[in-house]
Amino acid sequence: MLTCQQMTEVCTEYLEGRMPFGERLSFQLHLGMCRHCRLYLRQMKTTIETLGRLDDQPMPTEVREALRTRFRDWKRPRPPVDVPSG
Ligand SMILES: [Zn+2]
Repeated sequence: MLTCQQMTEVCTEYLEGRMPFGERLSFQLHLGMCRHCRLYLRQMKTTIETLGRLDDQPMPTEVREALRTRFRDWKRPRPPVDVPSG
């Protein structure tokens, strides 16, 4: 079973049809049980479609902020941060 974090990592592969059949089944199984990932996938799809139309535009700030807000509670590994001493 995929975790929600794995779902976010592979959802572009899914949307672009690059996912192997077995993974696709796991993905859809998770989607069927997880409302958060269904919402995430829908946002992602909209974003990709929007970006597809606006080729050389960066991701709109409001879209990025909306995604960040929605998923801010998710635990994601973060790179170490240099804390200035003193
Ligand atoms: Zn999920």
